[in-house]
Amino acid sequence: MKFNSPAQIRRLADFKGENLLTTSFYLDTDKSRQTKKEIAVSFKNLLSEGRTRLAVLDVSKAKKDSLVQDLDRIARFGASGLSAWTAAGLALFACSGAKFWEEMSLPRAPRNHIIFDRSLYVRPLSSMLDEYRRICALLLDRQEARWHEIFMGEISLLDTLKSEVPSRVREGGWQGYESKRIERHIDAHLHDHFKKAALKTFDLFKKNTFDWLFLSCKEEYRSNFEPLLHPYLKERLKGWLKSDSNISEDKVLKQSLEIERNLKAAEEEALAQALVAELEKGGRAVSGIKEVLRKLNTWEVQSLVLSRHFATGGTACPKCHYLYVDELRCPFCQVKTEKVQDIVHESVHSAMDKKVQVRYVTPPSKLDRYGKIGAFLKYKI
Ligand SMILES: [Zn+2]
Repeated sequence: MKFNSPAQIRRLADFKGENLLTTSFYLDTDKSRQTKKEIAVSFKNLLSEGRTRLAVLDVSKAKKDSLVQDLDRIARFGASGLSAWTAAGLALFACSGAKFWEEMSLPRAPRNHIIFDRSLYVRPLSSMLDEYRRICALLLDRQEARWHEIFMGEISLLDTLKSEVPSRVREGGWQGYESKRIERHIDAHLHDHFKKAALKTFDLFKKNTFDWLFLSCKEEYRSNFEPLLHPYLKERLKGWLKSDSNISEDKVLKQSLEIERNLKAAEEEALAQALVAELEKGGRAVSGIKEVLRKLNTWEVQSLVLSRHFATGGTACPKCHYLYVDELRCPFCQVKTEKVQDIVHESVHSAMDKKVQVRYVTPPSKLDRYGKIGAFLKYKI
């Protein structure tokens, strides 16, 4: 299955393997940087790392048996499916005891790792998804218009439009009044074409809800076309593609991805800045894993902001599911807490359960000085 929607993350996050543990296996399969042989070696190494860890894992027999079967299944995949894998990243999710198995191709290379946990490890997916926006690229010419969707590094044609606009041919004898009349006539046609294009863009927006609109047209058309766009679209108009009537799909994609990267970097910087500003004025924000978990436990978090790849250990209460950094016993339930390999991952799960937005900032950033994690709160502290 190809990874391309938040619904897939949701579904994996919701998976419950009854009382069993799950296996999540992530591998960098990007062939632009490594040979097939190197990928096969990394696969083997990661699998044997999993076997070593599993051998000393102190869990019930049923849990262990299921995990052993997971690794066997992954090994079988390595023998049969790996050499034909074309995507830049591979994710395998398994819980054999509950008959669960999923192969997922990723648009970008993940960090190689294997995780045994109560829930499937979806954080690399949520972090990857957050790197992309749904973009509509409109290529507008004086007679034609073409719309492309760009999402997760891929481009597809959405729609096209062709209008009859007379060309501006000046012939001898067209002077003065007559010439002006013809010009006005052409302008009216052009205006109609732009109007149709603007309406269609809005229709496509209603159907596909893209985040950003990128436009390619001649400089002289910009001032005529932009005012015709619906206010929702004006807000989303974020990028300008070089205008060229015969621009190829590849070039549109390449330019769009570059603009996306820059916009995304600016957006992350602004997000980190907004959080720091809120923290410094003592407003509705907290920082550091301990404080963030405390607020997350009590449903006070509005959105979670974390540094990509930040991970640290912690504990979780098996009864109330509160998350802690170092509590050995839950202060509320008085039961012994369970050790968790990556409490940041658990916090992402908890946030998703509570419909709290999770946003990522690529390090280095201002967030680094504030414990690499923060949260905007619903209420003032
Ligand atoms: Zn508890």
